[in-house]
This record gives sequence, C-alpha cells and structure tokens, in this order.
Amino acid sequence: MGIRIYQLADELDLENKELIDILQELDIDINSHMSTIEEDTADIVRDMFEEEETEEESLENVIEVEDVLTVKELGEELDVKPNKLITELINMGTMATINQDLDMETMEELAAEYGYQIKEVEGEDEEEDIYGLVNDYEDKEEDLELRPPVVTVMGHVDHGKTTLLDAIRKTNVTEGEAGGITQHIGAYQVEVNDQKVTFLDTPGHEAFTSMRARGAQATDVAIIIVAADDGVMPQTVEAINHAQAAEVPIIVAVNKIDKPNAQPEKVKQELTEHGLVVEEWGGDTVTVPISALKQQNLDELLEMVLLTAEMEELKANPNRPANGVIVEAELDRGRGPVATALVKNGTLNIGDYIVAGSAHGRVRAMIDDHGQRVEKAGPATPVEVLGLSDVPSAGDILEVMPSGTNARDIAEEREEEKRARELVDHKTAVNLDDLFEQIQQGEIKDLNIVIKADVQGSIEALKESLLDLSTDEVQVNVVHGGVGGITETDVMLASASNAIIIGFNVRPGTNARKTAEKENIDIRTYRVIYRAIEDVRKAMEGLLEPDY
Ligand code: GDP
Repeated sequence: MGIRIYQLADELDLENKELIDILQELDIDINSHMSTIEEDTADIVRDMFEEEETEEESLENVIEVEDVLTVKELGEELDVKPNKLITELINMGTMATINQDLDMETMEELAAEYGYQIKEVEGEDEEEDIYGLVNDYEDKEEDLELRPPVVTVMGHVDHGKTTLLDAIRKTNVTEGEAGGITQHIGAYQVEVNDQKVTFLDTPGHEAFTSMRARGAQATDVAIIIVAADDGVMPQTVEAINHAQAAEVPIIVAVNKIDKPNAQPEKVKQELTEHGLVVEEWGGDTVTVPISALKQQNLDELLEMVLLTAEMEELKANPNRPANGVIVEAELDRGRGPVATALVKNGTLNIGDYIVAGSAHGRVRAMIDDHGQRVEKAGPATPVEVLGLSDVPSAGDILEVMPSGTNARDIAEEREEEKRARELVDHKTAVNLDDLFEQIQQGEIKDLNIVIKADVQGSIEALKESLLDLSTDEVQVNVVHGGVGGITETDVMLASASNAIIIGFNVRPGTNARKTAEKENIDIRTYRVIYRAIEDVRKAMEGLLEPDY
C-alpha cells in the first residue's frame, strides 16, 4: 500500500514539491495514480533526513549577521562581557568603544576566539509593496482546511480553450443547477467526484500574466491545450514558458483527437523539444488525450487536475477575514462598479469593508457563477462583488478591512502613491543602460531575457550565445523564446519576470510599445545576431554606449 507523498512530506516538514524532487533525484518510483511510495523507500528518505538534522545541530555555534554589529551587540550574541571584547580588541591592536561598529573580519576573528562562526545573511527586501496585503493574519496550522484548486487553461489560438472551458462547465454542473442560468463572471466552479474545482474562465495567458505581474498568482494548475491536428505552436510555447516561470504544474490536454488527421504522438514529440517529457517516456508531464468538442475523456482530464492539486496540498483558513484577487471588473450602467473576485483565503461576507487596489467600499451584494445571490464566499470561490467605489484592475488584491474609514484611507493612499509612481520611473526594472550599475550594486543577479525572432533558428542561435555570457556575478536566463513580432503579452511576461526583450528581425506593435513604456521594459531590436550579443556583453561589463 505504501505511504502517501503528502503524508511523508508532512512528517519530514518538507513541501510536497521538495520531496518529489528528492525522490526523483534518487530515482525512486512514484505510483503516480495513488501518489504513494513504498514504506521501505520512505525509510530511506527518513534516514537521510535524520542524518541531516544532526549535521545542522553541529552548526549551532553560528551567528547569523545581517549587518555590522557593535561591540556590545556582538558581546550579547557571544554571551561575553563587552569589556572582555574591548580588551581582546586592544590586544589585536584596535582601540574600540562599546558602541563601535565592528567590520566583518574583526567580528569573525573575535567570534572564533569563543568557538563561534559568523555567517553573513541577506536582509529582507524592504521595498514596500503598496498593493500587497495590509493585514498580516497568521493562520494556525490547525485552522487550515483543504481548498479547491484554481485552474487556468492556456494554449494556441483555435486549439480549443473556449470549447474545453464550456464543455467542462456544461458537463459538470451539479444537480439542481442544471438548466439554471450560468453566467460568465470570469471564473466558475464545478464539482468532480464530490470535490470542487475552480476554473478561470478568461482563456489565454494575458490574464494569467497580468495577474502575475502584479504579484497576484491565482493559478494552482495550468492546463495547456494542444490541438492534435496542429501540434505545438508559438503560443503553446509561450504558455509553457509562462506556467514554468510561475512554477505552476502543467497538465497537457491533447485536444481534437476525434479528427482523422490527429497526431497525438507527434504532439508528445514536440513537447519533448520544449522540455516537457511525457510520462510514458519517463518524464513527469501528464498528458490526457481529449476531444473538447465531442466531450471525450474530460473526466480523466479533471481527475488528473485533482491528482495534481492533491500533490500541492492546497489549504486555506475559511474562518478569517477574506483576501483574494480581482479577476475581472467593469462599470455596469445600472449596478455601478462590478468586480469578480476570487477569494484566496478567509470568507468574504455581505457587509464586509473592502479595499481592492485603489478602490474601496462595503460588500453590498454578491452573485455567484450561476447568477445566484450569495451571502458569503469561501476560499477559491469566485463571486461578483457589488459595492466598490471604483473599478479595480484585474490582478488587484482584494482585502477585508476592519472599518470603512480604514479601507478608504488605504485606497486613497494607494491612489496617491500610484500617481507619484507614474511620475518617476520605477527604477528596479532591468535595462541594458544601467545593467552594470545594477550588477555592481547587487540589485541584479540574473539577467532575464525574452527573445522574439522571425525564425526559430535565430532564437536558438541567440539563446546559445546569450547563455554563454553568464559570469560568476550574473546568470543570463532566456525566460521565453518565440517566433513572431513583439506583443503586449511578451511585454507583460518581461514585466512579470523582470526581463529585457530582444527582437531579432521583428519589431514591437503599437500596443506592445505603449505597454513597454508604461511597464518600463527595455526592448532592443537587431538585424545582426552578433550586435545583440555584443550589446548584452558590453552592458554586463559596463561598456555600453548609452542609447539615446
Ligand atoms: P480557442 O481559440 O483556443 O478558444 O479555440 P476554440 O475553443 O474557439 O476552438 C476553435 C475551433 O476548434 C472551433 O471551431 C471548435 O469547434 C473547434 N474544436 C475545439 N475542440 C475541438 C475538438 O475536440 N474536436 C474538433 N473536431 N474540433 C474542435
């Protein structure tokens, strides 16, 4: 029978993913249907961790230091009187006072005298995220309950995203709801084997990426749909890259298998070329052959979604003030601002004071995906929310506040901050002109690049040479390479992954250019590969002539 992966992960205090990585490293077979491994094998892993713990214990005499310490502070860490340290310092030839800052080297020397080691650790990133959560509720482990997974469907145009989303919705309405009106609110929930699954109903990766660019990751599982008569296409590759960049697990739905010219095996081959090796060939990518149109094999696809979600062990605390993310929002003539919120944690109730981006208000009414009025919405539930002062943007974080004044103050603060930020460029965006400086200041350790080119061959050539430019200080990564012009989606991906965009024999469209300006994304276009490589190399070395 064996032990379930998530149970073992719990026992060892690991994330499921970490455990799975370890198991794969060890070449241990996972029964993917049951997500279990043999007891004997579990013991091997348990043993590994016991050893590691003892190793950690021997590191007890390590003092973690974020910044310089004064003589007094170091004394406290070492449990030594400061006067003693001052004497030591005099012996070392340094006259020091009790409140004097010590440099790393001196701290190390002093600590060594008392059998301690100093370890320099990086401080927390202190940049304030004005759109992040305001309230900092800590959920206790015992308050957490399993919640439904949130799924996004992505893929190339015409490969069947809309058909699939419609089919799943139609075939999985719960009894009693059948025949009831279903309403498009940007997300819906279905029941599969008595378990709920939430689908984001805005196909395509624009929504996915724009949410991520705002730091509001809403998706737990990505279904990437590939038409078996067409194969892996540029937007398929984009979707794969987006999901991977967001570290969201992927399930591939090989669609249109009802068509006579369907070639599912060819799709699998092409997936391999993009780093997704299917299970039958020893990889870990789950593929499910389906026909969205004929509604074939959708149950199996949904079961795979549940299995994948189970590995993620998604939990939330329904008994706390809610927070969530805005999926869609518009100004309705009769009803005023209407926003679809996906609750991530807690429960949203009628009457709650809320803030969403720079909009605020009190929940006046909520309507679910069947057009029914509801009083409350728990974790992973999508609802239309009425009562906001303004129309928030997709991707804005929604949060319940203790009072109306509180919500309004925060919304106003954000509005002011937003205007102020629009005036000054946000400096953190990477660009080739300041790259060297950013590297020097330690702001950048990865140079992320999105490549767009007219032909696949150029992408490969560029990618290879760019990756070769990596140094000890900076790792060059190509987060996405695709054939075609530079689109708004490319810009949003670059924004989400703090990347620059290199276009080879392609240019940005008007919308892409506008968005790039807004998001402060550096787009460089070239006609000669050598020049692109030279520019990046020079930028990394601080030798690039400014681009006026
Ligand atoms: P989207 O652009 O990815 O949302 O694709 P659509 O869902 O609009 O589908 C594009 C076309 O493919 C439509 O004409 C659908 O009827 C058709 N289609 C979708 N799924 C299937 C399928 O499983 N089999 C067949 N034969 N056609 C399909």
